[in-house]
Amino acid sequence: MALLVMKFGGTSVADIERIRIAAGHVKREVDAGHQCAVVVSAMSGQTNQLIEWVNEASPKADPHEYDTVVSSGEQVTSGLLAIVLQSMGIAARSWQGWQVPVFTDDAHSSARIIDVKTEELKSSLEANEVAVVPGFQGLGPHNRITTLGRGGSDTSAVALAAALGTERCDIYTDVDGIYTTDPRVVPQAQRLDKISYEEMLEMASLGAKVLQTRSVQLAMVHQVRVLVRSSFEPPDEVPAGEEGAGTLVCDEDEIVEQQVVSGIAYTKDEAKVTLIKVADKPGVAARVFGPLAEARINVDMIVQNVSADDRTTDMTFTVAAAELDKALDVLKGLKDDIGYADLRGSTDVVKVSVIGVGMRSHAGVAAQMFKALAEKGINIEAISTSEIKISILIDAAYAELAVRSLHSLYGLDSA
Ligand code: ADP
Ligand code: ASP
Ligand code: MG
Repeated sequence: MALLVMKFGGTSVADIERIRIAAGHVKREVDAGHQCAVVVSAMSGQTNQLIEWVNEASPKADPHEYDTVVSSGEQVTSGLLAIVLQSMGIAARSWQGWQVPVFTDDAHSSARIIDVKTEELKSSLEANEVAVVPGFQGLGPHNRITTLGRGGSDTSAVALAAALGTERCDIYTDVDGIYTTDPRVVPQAQRLDKISYEEMLEMASLGAKVLQTRSVQLAMVHQVRVLVRSSFEPPDEVPAGEEGAGTLVCDEDEIVEQQVVSGIAYTKDEAKVTLIKVADKPGVAARVFGPLAEARINVDMIVQNVSADDRTTDMTFTVAAAELDKALDVLKGLKDDIGYADLRGSTDVVKVSVIGVGMRSHAGVAAQMFKALAEKGINIEAISTSEIKISILIDAAYAELAVRSLHSLYGLDSA
């Protein structure tokens, strides 16, 4: 008998019919003798709706109350799944984040999990009661409800698996695994049997929203194997307890055949800032990036052009699209201090990234990439690299063309 953590995302609990199918997957595991802790997201679209209501009530809502409202979608689905399981004759109860409790810090709307208490949960599981836990929810300082950031139910599930000491966490979603790129953008994308934590970490942080980045970090640290699989398959056609279906996120040394490039991710959530004609002298970069850091604005890619006249240069960098206005405000206030001729901001850009641990030992991946994009007439505005990824910033209009071309270039297209 094993203890399983199963997580169902928004589309997998989108209505009562879907909740019944999710319950069917749980029943299959219960019938096979497993203890099940089940994490659920809100019905798809619900969290967006709740955020809209908060913004309509006040664009400057108190973050504590924001989380009170926004966390409620998961309360509904956890209760509904428990009700459906009970109606199938399975003992089940819901546990809200504050009841477990899942302790977090006080960073409302993007809180980090500090500790998950499992004593009570464990005794309920040992009494063969399915525990249905709403994802995304936490309990912060002063008994206030927190939320873990968009897509945070993945992180709830992995944290629960780590705290319960299970070695596997099953993430049921609307695709049957992790693909070489978003299968909704590139139909030729191929499902991977396995992907390393490191690659998945890059994929997630560079835009593949199939798993929240923090869930992969936690899985890597606590050695939780994450199996991403489909909730849409009929529950009784899947063998109980199986690791076969879907994509396993695991240690690199478990993967026998490693490709040079494993996947391609892209994100439209980045914005470009250009400072025109800044003085080309020591200390200027510090005067630009120091105040941005103080304003808690993260800067990602940075390009400083070669100076044409030896006195001034253009400087381009990227920030999260949601922080563009804030970044521009900070820089406008520093116009005299920095000394620039003009300031421009644009959200019409996309960051496309090529990821693979094989790049550590394989030269030429970047050169191939730049050549292929040049042949398609796509201009690269900024580049950043790490040991296992190359990211480029391009005009948003070319996003799909670039992703598709690179997917073929590295031999990832299905036959
Ligand atoms: P859930 O509601 O179950 O949490 P999400 O919408 O958060 O599901 O994540 C699943 C989606 O992630 C898929 O529908 C797919 O469009 C998208 N996705 C992006 N990149 C990938 C990828 N490389 N592999 C699989 N899915 C991906
Ligand atoms: N419901 C939350 C969201 O939409 C959390 C999640 O689904 O993982 O972001
Ligand atoms: Mg998700």
